[in-house]
Formats: sequence, structure tokens, C-alpha cells
Amino acid sequence: MGNLPYNSDLLKEITAFCKKNNIRLGKIEAIGALQKANIGFYDNEKSDYKVNSFNRFFEITNLSGNISIKDGEPFIHAHITLADENGKAFGGHLLEGNIVFVCEVIIHVFDGDEFVRKPDKDTGVFLWG
Ligand code: ZN
Repeated sequence: MGNLPYNSDLLKEITAFCKKNNIRLGKIEAIGALQKANIGFYDNEKSDYKVNSFNRFFEITNLSGNISIKDGEPFIHAHITLADENGKAFGGHLLEGNIVFVCEVIIHVFDGDEFVRKPDKDTGVFLWG
């Protein structure tokens, strides 16, 4: 459990932590607040993310994700839900560009065989093979 630094990039910070500590299998959860948000919605026609960017303050009401292996390195796949001052929620796939105001992260580290991401023949998405 720990805090992410003020002004850090949420995804970059968690990824760097996992690489530094050789965390290769696990679960991530977090709550806190962001100064800027950058979240994706997967467009299956374009096989890419539509990016929704918000230059404003949000509460992180939930972040949930996993740690597995892609290209030999720890890889974080996480989704985030944010709420504005009226309690309205936004959410999506966690991209880089989410700037931390405060963020309390819990990482659950698992033992066992690594889960390795490979392109899936049906979807083209990197899934556990
Ligand atoms: Zn996703």
C-alpha cells in the first residue's frame, strides 16, 4: 500500500513501481483524485482507443486492474471510474496522462505462473495466451 506522488502520471508511476520491484503477477486497486484525466474507450472497428481527455479535477472513485506480462515486462491493464462535483461518473481504460492530485494504491502480489499477453486471433487484442 502506498501513495503516488503529487503531479505524477498514474499509469507510468504504477508501471515503474512494478518493474522496479519485479512484480509480474497481481491485482491493483486505487482511490484518490486527479488533476487531469486521460481515459480510453476501445473502438473495435478501428482497433484503437478513442481518447477522452479532461483538464479538470476528479475524484477517483475506483481503479481496478491487473498485472501480467507483455513483451517480457510487467504490464498494467486497468480501468478507472472518476466522479465530478455533481457525482456524475466517467470511466474507461487507463491511459498515460492521468495526473495525480492524491492516490492511494494497493497492489496484491500473486505467486504462480506468469500470465503472458499475446495477440488474440479473434479480436486482435493482446490477451492472456
Ligand atoms: Zn482496458
